[in-house]
Amino acid sequence: ALTEDKQLQVAINHPPPLPPRDVTGHKGSFGQALFIAGAASYLGAPRFAALSFLKAGGGYSRLATPETIVPYLSMQAGEVVFVPQLTTHSGSIALSNRAALLELAASQDFAVIGPGLSLDPQSQQLVCELVATLDIPLLIDADGISALCAKPEILQQRTAPTVLTPHLGEMARLTGYSITEIEQDKIGILRQAAAKLQAVIVLKGPHTLIGTPDGQIFINLSGNSGMGSAGTGDTLTGTIAAAFCLGLPFVDAVCKGVLLHGLAGDLAAEALGEDGMTAGDILDYLPTALQMER
Ligand code: AMP
Ligand code: MG
Repeated sequence: ALTEDKQLQVAINHPPPLPPRDVTGHKGSFGQALFIAGAASYLGAPRFAALSFLKAGGGYSRLATPETIVPYLSMQAGEVVFVPQLTTHSGSIALSNRAALLELAASQDFAVIGPGLSLDPQSQQLVCELVATLDIPLLIDADGISALCAKPEILQQRTAPTVLTPHLGEMARLTGYSITEIEQDKIGILRQAAAKLQAVIVLKGPHTLIGTPDGQIFINLSGNSGMGSAGTGDTLTGTIAAAFCLGLPFVDAVCKGVLLHGLAGDLAAEALGEDGMTAGDILDYLPTALQMER
C-alpha cells in the first residue's frame, strides 16, 4: 500500500555498491571515526557503537567515554582507542571536556554522538555545543537526539551533513507528534521532519525508513524481529559511519549502512534464530554482510 500511493512515492533501499577496497590503504585511509558515547550505567551502547564501525569496514575507531568506565570497556573492546572523559557526579561526560573534544573531532572523518550518553544536563548541553560547532559529518542517535529536540535551529544551521537515527519514541520526541500519530503517517511526518531539520533521518523499526532533506524516502527490506532487543540500534551507528568512510556519498552511505545492518541481523537470525540473537551477534555478522554486499 505504501508504494502505491503516488503522493507518497517511496523507493526500495537499493544503494550503489561500495567502491573497491584500496589495496594500499591503512587504518587512517579507511576512515577515522569518533564516538562520543556512554555513561556509568550504559557500557554496552558505546562498545557496540565503536566496534560496529570496525566490523563494518572502518579503519580507526576512537571512543570518548567517561573515564570511570574505560577500564571495564577496554577489556571488551581491544580494537578501540579510548579518549577518557572527565565525568559529572552521575557518571556522565562532563561539559568541561568540550574544548578538547572539539579539537579532536575536527580532525576526524565522521563523528557519532549519543549512544548511552544519558540525559545528564551537562552531557545534553555538550551535545548541543558540539553539533552547533563541528563542521564534519555527524550521526546523532539516542540521548544525542533528546538533547536537540527543543533546538531545531542547531541542526538547521549546520553546513556539513547530519543523519539522525531515531526509533519511534525518539521520533516522537524529535517532532512533537505522538507515537500513534507517527504510526498513522510515518512517511509524511518523516518527510516533513527531514526537510525542516535539514538532516537525513533514519526512522528505525520493522522496515526502517530513510528520509532526506530534499524529500526522498527509501524503505529498507533487510532485518527481522530478532533485532528488537537492546543494543541493536547502537550497532547501526558505526555501520553507517563505516559506509561513509569507505567512500560512498552521504545519503548512499546512510542507505548502505541500514541495508548492511539489517543483512547482518538476517544472517544472525538464520544461524541462531530470531528469539535469542543479540546485538553482539549482529556485530559478529557484520563482516559477512559486508562480504556479501561486495
Ligand atoms: P534501537 O531501538 O535504537 O535499539 O534500534 C533497534 C534496531 O533494530 C533498529 O535498527 C531497528 O530497525 C531494528 N529493529 C527493531 N525491531 C525490528 C523488527 N521487528 N524488524 C526489523 N528490524 C527491527
Ligand atoms: Mg537506540
